[in-house]
Amino acid sequence: MNIPPTPAEAVARLRTTFRTGRTRPLGWRTEQLTGLRALVTGHRDELADALHTDLRKPRAEADVAEVDFTVREIDHTLRHLEQWLHPEPVPASALTRLPPGTTADTRHDPLGTVLVIASWNYPVSLLLVPVAGALAAGNTVLAKPSELAPVCSALLARLLPQYVDPEAIAVVEGGGRTTTDLLAQRFDHILYTGNAGFGRTVLRAAAEHLTPVTLELGGKSPVFVDRGVDLAVVATRLARAKFANAGQTCVAPDHVLTDPATARALEGELARAVTDLYGPDPARSPAYGRIVNGRHFDRVAALLDSGRTVIGGRYDRADRYIAPTVLAEVEPDAPVMREEIFGPVLPLLEVADLGEAIASINDRDRPLAVYAFTDDDTTRRRLAEETASGGLNFGLPIAHLGIPELPFGGVGESGFGRYHGRWSIDTFSHRRACLDVPLG
Ligand code: NAD
Repeated sequence: MNIPPTPAEAVARLRTTFRTGRTRPLGWRTEQLTGLRALVTGHRDELADALHTDLRKPRAEADVAEVDFTVREIDHTLRHLEQWLHPEPVPASALTRLPPGTTADTRHDPLGTVLVIASWNYPVSLLLVPVAGALAAGNTVLAKPSELAPVCSALLARLLPQYVDPEAIAVVEGGGRTTTDLLAQRFDHILYTGNAGFGRTVLRAAAEHLTPVTLELGGKSPVFVDRGVDLAVVATRLARAKFANAGQTCVAPDHVLTDPATARALEGELARAVTDLYGPDPARSPAYGRIVNGRHFDRVAALLDSGRTVIGGRYDRADRYIAPTVLAEVEPDAPVMREEIFGPVLPLLEVADLGEAIASINDRDRPLAVYAFTDDDTTRRRLAEETASGGLNFGLPIAHLGIPELPFGGVGESGFGRYHGRWSIDTFSHRRACLDVPLG
């Protein structure tokens, strides 16, 4: 029987590998990325099956949001990595006069051994995209998948050492106790994706070792719907973004803020959009997912009475099914507005105007995204200047995540730090200041 290494043993092995210097050459880094790419493309069906078992994730969502999303990130990095890693020269204009021939530049140094702790809702991409970034930056990596998606966790633990240099990657599976043991080790960076409560624990543990941390958390991402926009388009885009993965997406639109007349008109359009996407009975639709476990089911089911039901409202605990639900006339202090929903419930809140919408956004913790549907430049400008959030997205909720040139991360309660594309290289590197003054 194979006895898994203890966290301390796994970290020691990864540190030894890093010190050999083998993770530094560009060739080694691109090999790891190519390996990760082969892992997801070569095991597409197995990954989809695992995602279905853990989350009843629909096949199209498994393909798009887990496999293709990861491939896109890897391809983008493979295309640009060499250029990103070039030392960036700066003018050597110093306080004191320096001899001719002096050069100064900044370099991306790998940090060492990185810990990636992933959440269960996109258990493949939320683990592999940061792992890809950390390897591309020349680090060794300890990956900790979520125990709430156990089949995906076991599959990734088996596959990763087959496709990535097994001396440079370790996968440690397990729940609370394991993560606590892991966090007692010294890492050179930790990227954690999950709830803010445990994020605080991660940060406290990291403080012991002065380890820098990226916290990818969640929040109540609001959607402002302006007067006069095409509500059929709005409803379709909103329903797609909200009800994918049964609402269990960190950047899902959490609630809608709009004026009373627009809210009335939007109700009918949302009901139509939900039926278009999932048919008259979403419980029978292969395109609709399930809630991850009984605890989260109970939490979300308890929110269903928070307003007048426009569509949905049905649930079945045995099947962990909660229908895509739209609630109207929801009060700002209703249960559904007290915490991140993280489930398939979309409340519509009525506000008099943009000013009230902005006040509502600013009365709450800073969210991972602010969304708006508007044709008006002043509205765009005011939302940009008068609110704060991880991302700002007009017109197509969630889509900003799929652009690897854009940083992905939160602000305030939605987290700090960022990754994706070259932002991952920045996160998992040390920017080293280098000066070279001729002796002659
Ligand atoms: P989770 O339960 O899978 O926890 C995340 C990770 O932390 C897991 O690996 C888990 O083992 C560990 N963990 C959590 N609680 C722990 C504890 N008490 N002791 C030891 N280890 C613990 O996922 P979650 O926290 O339910 O994730 C949902 C939250 O994450 C939501 O708020 C969501 O918005 C956020 N999220 C953010 C992003 C993002 O990219 N910003 C992505 C997905 C989810």
